[in-house]
Amino acid sequence: MLGIDLMRDPAIQAFRADVQQFCATHLPRDIRDKVLAGQHLVKSDYVRWQKILFDKGWIVGHWPRPYGGQDWTPLQRAIFDDETSKAGAPWLTPFGVCYAGPVIYTFGSQAQKDRYLPGIRSTDTWWCQGYSEPGAGSDLANIKTRAVRDGDHYVVNGQKTWTTMAQWADMMFTLVRTSSEGKPQNGISFLLIDMKTPGVTVRPIISIDKCHHLNEVFLDDVRVPAENLVGEEGRGWTYAKFLLNNERLLGAEVGKSTRLLQQLRRTLADIRDGGRPLSDDPHWRRRLGELRARLLALEAVCNEYLAAAEAGSTPGLEVSALKIMGSELIQGITGAMVDALAVKGLVYQTEGLEPGWQTPPVGLPGAPGMIREHLHDRATTIYGGANEIQRNILAKAVLGL
Ligand SMILES: Cc1cc2nc3c(=O)[nH]c(=O)nc-3n(C[C@H](O)[C@H](O)[C@H](O)COP(=O)(O)OP(=O)(O)OC[C@H]3O[C@@H](n4cnc5c(N)ncnc54)[C@H](O)[C@@H]3O)c2cc1C
Repeated sequence: MLGIDLMRDPAIQAFRADVQQFCATHLPRDIRDKVLAGQHLVKSDYVRWQKILFDKGWIVGHWPRPYGGQDWTPLQRAIFDDETSKAGAPWLTPFGVCYAGPVIYTFGSQAQKDRYLPGIRSTDTWWCQGYSEPGAGSDLANIKTRAVRDGDHYVVNGQKTWTTMAQWADMMFTLVRTSSEGKPQNGISFLLIDMKTPGVTVRPIISIDKCHHLNEVFLDDVRVPAENLVGEEGRGWTYAKFLLNNERLLGAEVGKSTRLLQQLRRTLADIRDGGRPLSDDPHWRRRLGELRARLLALEAVCNEYLAAAEAGSTPGLEVSALKIMGSELIQGITGAMVDALAVKGLVYQTEGLEPGWQTPPVGLPGAPGMIREHLHDRATTIYGGANEIQRNILAKAVLGL
């Protein structure tokens, strides 16, 4: 068990303790309270926390040093993600620091690096990801948004959808079709679009949690300078795959599940039925125990992959199992939370998602945030590569089907 040995390594333990200590002293209390209560966060909450991480030099810890990073290994990055998540830090919005940034410093021109990397590190520029389209999600190679070269510009027409936080974005990295010849993948290019360009329209999509995270982005005759093309025309698919490969070890979300499981345990202790807390009920004890066992198994599998990566091996496609296990575990925990809340009646009081809520709650005071988390997390098995697609990958790569 390489993973267990590695987690006991004093240097690794010291790094974990550093992150824990930093969160304890620097994560603003008001932001943490909102995250732990499952309440709405506004853009300034995310930016404030990301700037604190920037000042510490940790916002892009996983980037190479020449670009302002710390050369973190995948293990350090996973520890950072887990510990910040356990502490109640906001989701580290990945669109700049995890996606656009690494593509730009790996494949972009010097001018693009100079222009975009500083704003990504400081979160002064907010990015969004324009990949999915109404007819292209799992089948991303099917994108129809066209970019036609016209002098020193591309003229872009099409529609993107499910674009997370595009309502706040200054820039969008997109996959666009620059050619219809040959294999569909070969005609795709990677283009950076300034969201203030005439012809860009952002329209909200309200999801089942009644929140506005998602958007449609319409692109009508949008003139994008040709210098915003990253790398070579027609190589966008390669850059998009590079980006996904970078992220595959982080799909497990062990930190988030750990935090949610603690919340479930507290909830079961707080809800009484027939004069006894649910946590005394054998049904709930078994359910909690099963979820805990799944979390421990996930953590152990993750640690093995991280240990292998630490030893220099590149994880294979079987890492898709982490995304499946992690997302289904999160849904299992939040589903149990909602089932427990339902013992006292379930009402989704969305006004309870705003700090300072005064209305008497139905059930537990924290119920709205837990219901929101449950509804939002229905998406975990869809985004980042739907679980059915991950199962297809496993079937082909591991089972040879
Ligand atoms: C909360 C959320 C945030 C998102 N944020 C972004 C974002 O910021 N930027 C962005 O570009 N996209 C974003 N997406 C889009 C996301 O990447 C897609 O929803 C996802 O890739 C699935 O594509 P789709 O919605 O078109 O569904 P489809 O691909 O149409 O799939 C529908 C169903 O069919 C199944 N299916 C499809 N093909 C197969 C197959 N070959 N075998 C078996 N089953 C299959 C799928 O698993 C799914 O269950 C987001 C989605 C969500 C839910």
